[in-house]
Amino acid sequence: MASYIFRCQFCDAQPDPLTQVSLERTVVEVTFGAYVDAMPEKWLVWHGHGPYGPPRYACAEHRGDLVAYLRHHYGAIGPHPWKRPPYPTQLGRSDRAERPVSLGEGSSMPRWRKTPEPE
Ligand SMILES: [Zn+2]
Repeated sequence: MASYIFRCQFCDAQPDPLTQVSLERTVVEVTFGAYVDAMPEKWLVWHGHGPYGPPRYACAEHRGDLVAYLRHHYGAIGPHPWKRPPYPTQLGRSDRAERPVSLGEGSSMPRWRKTPEPE
């Protein structure tokens, strides 16, 4: 299995293993112009495609920078970059509970917290 290398495009941070799994899962999602949260580190994924460019990734610290970047570059193309949080943690299927981790931000809605599934 090839494994993807994800890097924050602003600081070269790399995700922890669990977040890496979340990010890998978003790679196969076929979407156009959508934000996704990758838990538990709460990275932000931008699914561009087409006129919105390649997928982009940002760590929790720089997710705001990514949003600003996208709005600057693609904001004129359509409404997708202007979407406001909360963003889904996955697209096209129901959320699967990962380990609930408090990020100390106090602003995220815990909608991805459901009954944990045994592995
Ligand atoms: Zn970063």
